[in-house]
Amino acid sequence: MSAKRMTDAVGDCPATRCFEAALVSHRLGHAYLLVGRDEDAKLALAAALAKAGNCRGDHAPGEFCDTCPSCRQVDAGGSANIRVFGDSGILRIDTVDQFISYASVKTASGCLKVSVFRGVDFFTDVAADRVLKTIEEPVPGNVFLLLSQNSRRVLATIRSRVQVMKVERSTQVISDLQDAVFVTGEDARLEVLLEFAKANVSLSETVGRLLRMSSQNSLRDNATAGLQTIALFMNSVLRARGKAPPAASISLSTEPELARVNFVLDESRVGLFLDHLGERLKHIEQNVNPELVLTNALLELRRMTTHE
Ligand SMILES: [Zn+2]
Repeated sequence: MSAKRMTDAVGDCPATRCFEAALVSHRLGHAYLLVGRDEDAKLALAAALAKAGNCRGDHAPGEFCDTCPSCRQVDAGGSANIRVFGDSGILRIDTVDQFISYASVKTASGCLKVSVFRGVDFFTDVAADRVLKTIEEPVPGNVFLLLSQNSRRVLATIRSRVQVMKVERSTQVISDLQDAVFVTGEDARLEVLLEFAKANVSLSETVGRLLRMSSQNSLRDNATAGLQTIALFMNSVLRARGKAPPAASISLSTEPELARVNFVLDESRVGLFLDHLGERLKHIEQNVNPELVLTNALLELRRMTTHE
């Protein structure tokens, strides 16, 4: 039976090409951030790496036989050479403890131990610090794979210390591109609101930026998108402060930053504020001046928040 390559497991993508080349040249790095929306593809790639790094059968460098005991143990989930921590949602602190203790165990000679950590998008500063410490003082034979849905959500401290690689099955490229267009507009609006919340930009300037955000859209459409982003912003601030559960489907490059916005928020008023936003959306549909509606929404946002 012929040996398998990583591309057989996940298809051809930047991450598979990089891993294959690294294994062939014996230059595997110690930590990677695998980015992509397809969680199964990232996990399949991690398994393929564990197989290729530990295969006892006949295979060329960067390949694996897929039939020897080592390869079969990876498939069965019983291999000592790969372990997956966390899920794609909220991070539990004991998961970090388990990861650290697994990562500190020495590998048998000639083995490659693959430690996989999912949900890196949700790391707090504290969790990130502890994980980074482990990653940066690796026991020989360890490779760390951190899994993320959207690299822009990952704390900069992590991003700067690992190799970032995209994992995507080829059929997914088009839908990812479409998402990127949407995310760009959303993130840009959130940046504008963040600057406003930090009192770096005036009210009129903020209204102007939001109304001109997308040149293909009418003022009304831009105002509608602006109001929707204010709602998202508010929910994200609550989430960043641990007052609301995370929404895994939303992509926010600004989320870690939202946790650090230093305004005092009167949380008892948020519900009413969000109700008002719903009414304001209707006002725009009813042809009320979009600039006026957006200005009033931002004024209410400002009144609800006082700076320390
Ligand atoms: Zn094998």
